[in-house]
Amino acid sequence: MRLNKEINQFDIPLAKRTYLNNSNSILLKKLLILSPFLFLIFSIAALRLIRNIELEPLYNLKFQVERDHDGRIFGHIPYKEIPKEKLVLIEPNIEVHIDMRDSLLKMREEAKKDGIYLVFLSGYRSINLQNDIFYSLKSIRNQEAAERARVSAPPGYSEHSTGFAIDIGDATQRETDFEADFENTDAFRWLIKNAARYHFKLSFNKDNKYIDYEPWHWRYEGSIEALKVFESSNIKL
Ligand SMILES: [Zn+2]
Repeated sequence: MRLNKEINQFDIPLAKRTYLNNSNSILLKKLLILSPFLFLIFSIAALRLIRNIELEPLYNLKFQVERDHDGRIFGHIPYKEIPKEKLVLIEPNIEVHIDMRDSLLKMREEAKKDGIYLVFLSGYRSINLQNDIFYSLKSIRNQEAAERARVSAPPGYSEHSTGFAIDIGDATQRETDFEADFENTDAFRWLIKNAARYHFKLSFNKDNKYIDYEPWHWRYEGSIEALKVFESSNIKL
């Protein structure tokens, strides 16, 4: 009796199988027959792909992927040079975009009231100047472009060419100018606490995979034009 019951239980799935005897099951059978061949074709394709990848240096691969995304090179985004008529001189050798002048000067004034002395190190830089910086320093230091790009933007890819970037130092600790050590100054601590009020933002923070941390480099995002310029930079990869 018990045995019969078990057989009956098996009958149910067997009966269900007849249901597959239609055109779908014929297609399934064909696929099953073809599957070793399909597997072989996919394996060959995959092997070829892997071999090609191995032939390419890894940074070239990244380069390809990023260029396809939004034109980035080594993590830097392309920027157009600001039209000359939008540049204003705020002190000898420091030019910035007219949109950010008032906010930048106000930030320095307010910092002074708190006993913090900000010094502006570098504002607008032309693509030509960036070209000299990138290629001359690169050859002096005998660095590959990818290595150099960690500390300096390739020409045409610097936020400085937009006029919306400013490098800031601490007037009481000039030895930290352009150094990661700037993060230990009172000026940096003040900026972290207050810069957003003046629409300034740290461009290259510690999370950036490609570009070294630059605590001295800030960008302005307080106008529509500035926001448009930095739109793709604000999208995380
Ligand atoms: Zn900078």
